Amino acid sequence: MTSSTIASALDSAARDVFDDLVAWRHHLHSHPELSNREHHTAEFIVERLRDAGIDEIRSGIAGTGVVAILRGGESEGEGDKRLAALRADIDALPVKETSGVDFASTVVDNDYPGGPFPVAHACGHDCHTATVLAAAHVLASVRDRLPGDVMFIFQPAEEGAPVGESGGAQAMVDDNAFADHTPTMVFGMHVVPLPIGMVGVHVGNQYAASCMIKISVEGKQVHGSTPWMGIDPYPVAAEIISGSAQIYRQVPANDAITVSFGHVDDVGRFNIIGQTVTLWGTIRCLDGADMTAVQDKLRRLAENTAAAYGASATVEYLQDVPPVVNTPEWVNRIRPVIDDVIGKERVVDVPGALGYDDVSVFVRDFGGAYFTYGVQDAQVSAKGLTPTPGGRGLASNHSPDFYADDDALLDYLRIFVHVAYAHLAESS
Ligand SMILES: [Zn+2]
Ligand SMILES: [Zn+2]
Repeated sequence: MTSSTIASALDSAARDVFDDLVAWRHHLHSHPELSNREHHTAEFIVERLRDAGIDEIRSGIAGTGVVAILRGGESEGEGDKRLAALRADIDALPVKETSGVDFASTVVDNDYPGGPFPVAHACGHDCHTATVLAAAHVLASVRDRLPGDVMFIFQPAEEGAPVGESGGAQAMVDDNAFADHTPTMVFGMHVVPLPIGMVGVHVGNQYAASCMIKISVEGKQVHGSTPWMGIDPYPVAAEIISGSAQIYRQVPANDAITVSFGHVDDVGRFNIIGQTVTLWGTIRCLDGADMTAVQDKLRRLAENTAAAYGASATVEYLQDVPPVVNTPEWVNRIRPVIDDVIGKERVVDVPGALGYDDVSVFVRDFGGAYFTYGVQDAQVSAKGLTPTPGGRGLASNHSPDFYADDDALLDYLRIFVHVAYAHLAESS
């Protein structure tokens, strides 16, 4: 079998499964589930994997995770066999969808901690999931000719498990998802507002290191009319938020970091100065080496600000996620494959971003790379990224109007299957 013959077999199988891919995507999109609650999604995934005749399917990993293995017919002995892993995250977000598509979500999760929440696939994980499912079908159709095995990773809780629960990529590793079968490469691409069919590549840190911040400021509850008889935690909370905006001046200016608070919890009332105010936020560091320093400085700020007011502050950092690191070696192996599949002109260099993605755990542990893939009506010109005139506009991930073009997903699928095959064929 020549490489051009297998390439055309992959492409023709991709075209054959494409209508199913779109139908699966629409189904997942209109049935979104929040992090660690992806029960229907996981069942749907298992059914589609069974339809593809995948050899080994394990579900219930780290909650709702699914890992499947397709055995290649031309695999050599166990020793040096390669295992190419394709990864999709499967969870949705607490966002009220306004994309306007006819398969838009109207789902509300009434039981989720902190809810009820409207739920939508506002990060495009429906595209990731449907496409990796389609990749399983495509690769299964040429299984006899695969010189190695392929793993399909369906990861829950990429957006972060509820506080107090574990979940996500690290939880899958901890749950021994890869103990018996260790991938020799993990590959994925996040759908983003780049022009349809464009792949964004960044050598180095594609996505930032991240952690969740929880700061509990403890005062002394008292009637609102007599603040001197208690300890008011509010000015402490306010000064911590203000002071956190200065932390960027305490790390090297070339290093991108952000400290943001998005949620404040209290138990007061208009005429009661409450006992505790809790601040929730996130730290992002494009260079993971800055994370400890930023955490230390924020802790120092919080504890000393509280002390200055006679209050106390307890600082916790939760849900640590390492940066997504695309090494030059892995990019040099994978990028030429993508160049061949969709044309060099559609593969562009992009800057690293302060978003996070816990695929970083897999890429760090097993090697591979994670790129971005354009699914929106956009164009790149001297003015940068702009909406295509007459198109649907630019809508960022997590926004209520985020959308992804269905037709963009055919090349997205082709890239997945070709990258997996190329990795296996490298060794043969
Ligand atoms: Zn997201
Ligand atoms: Zn995402």
